Amino acid sequence: MTADGGLRTISAVRRYDAVIVGAGPAGSVSAYRLASAGARVLMLDRAAFPRDKPCGGGLTGRALRELPIDVGPVIEKEVDRFEFRLRYGPAYARTASGPLIAMTRRARLDHHLAERAAAAGAEFHDSVRVTDVTELEDGYVVRAGSARFAASTMVGADGVNGVCARALGLGSRPTYGVALEGDVVSTAAEDRRYAATAVFELGTVPGGYGWAFPKEGRINLGVGGWQREGPSLRGHLEKLCAAHGIDPARLEGVVGYRLPLRKPDAALARRRALLVGDAAGLVDPISGDGMFECFVSARVASDAVVDLLSGAESSVEPYAKRLERRLCRLTSASWSAKIAFDRFPWLSFQLTRPGFVWPIVEALIRGEIDHPGSSRGLGRTALKLLDAGSRRLTGGQRIWHEPGPSALG
Ligand SMILES: Cc1cc2nc3c(=O)[nH]c(=O)nc-3n(C[C@H](O)[C@H](O)[C@H](O)COP(=O)(O)OP(=O)(O)OC[C@H]3O[C@@H](n4cnc5c(N)ncnc54)[C@H](O)[C@@H]3O)c2cc1C
Repeated sequence: MTADGGLRTISAVRRYDAVIVGAGPAGSVSAYRLASAGARVLMLDRAAFPRDKPCGGGLTGRALRELPIDVGPVIEKEVDRFEFRLRYGPAYARTASGPLIAMTRRARLDHHLAERAAAAGAEFHDSVRVTDVTELEDGYVVRAGSARFAASTMVGADGVNGVCARALGLGSRPTYGVALEGDVVSTAAEDRRYAATAVFELGTVPGGYGWAFPKEGRINLGVGGWQREGPSLRGHLEKLCAAHGIDPARLEGVVGYRLPLRKPDAALARRRALLVGDAAGLVDPISGDGMFECFVSARVASDAVVDLLSGAESSVEPYAKRLERRLCRLTSASWSAKIAFDRFPWLSFQLTRPGFVWPIVEALIRGEIDHPGSSRGLGRTALKLLDAGSRRLTGGQRIWHEPGPSALG
């Protein structure tokens, strides 16, 4: 052993180009992309796979567009119809011209993505919990119990409760949301009721909403909101069940989990290390979705790692600006909508209800536009009003800083 933590031990082990901590969607897609580009990749996860992760399991069209892996084998249902209801009262439905969300279950999806990463050449070890990271001049040593792994670059993909952000001096305490979900085994009548339909119950949970999503032989029901709603979530979930004529006692596997909403000053990359997905706090404020952001960050991150490994860049730090450029305006608009819905649910519901707003929502979910500011027509005017109202509420301040024009400017 050497005084600096065991360099002699390290030189005896295989050195990787990249070590990825966490094999959720962000980690596995990063591993897949890097291994496909020819890098020697090691991916570690503390859980034994297949493992579940509390999630609605909805893959939006924009998430699917970013995925380099065919997930057809693990898709259980497709949704092309949305129902929106305010405080379990007035409701409306909209049907899209094609699928908007592909429904999966995370135990299946995450296992599939990890397998595809391994098939592309990444070395994957599950049941390995990373406890510590040491930064060296030219890389990192990752410690998992008595085992050590050395790599030139590091991708922190260990989710909202991970160790990488702190160990690498990245991130900063995000704003947290929290959500609780469970499944019921569906009856034939429930399968018909929720066929190809996602239900969104707005104005029911402060800082969030309730949902009902169809799965194969199951309906997933969940509620999410600001972190302070944590103690009330079980009550909110019971109300959601009652509104859907479902006995809460039928719910299986009810689990809660945090949702990290990044603050703009949180550092995402330093020297040879970066954060992706929930570890970077990239969850979308209004929808609570995070898988699209996992896939975008995995793509931008793997490009930055390849640039460093090939000598085109001297660090992975360009990652942060590139990711910001891609996500910032969407995040800004999303924060605006979240604040407006939270403070003026009735008005926000009425502003977004007209038929001419729906094509924008549809285009955003499908990833046909990057943010609402690139839309046109009356729908854009309605969303600008929502944005203006939200800005008044925050004293003219945007919660999110933006490079260039405002999200709806
Ligand atoms: C209730 C709920 C519903 C949601 N619904 C949706 C939805 O419908 N659609 C959507 O797009 N998003 C949804 N989200 C958000 C989505 O689940 C997350 O954004 C997504 O899981 C983030 O993926 P990730 O790969 O960054 O992290 P994770 O999926 O959390 O994976 C992190 C991995 O790191 C591993 N890990 C952690 N610590 C260590 C360690 N020390 N050593 C080794 N491994 C470690 C964990 O075991 C885990 O496998 C929902 C979230 C919640 C809470």
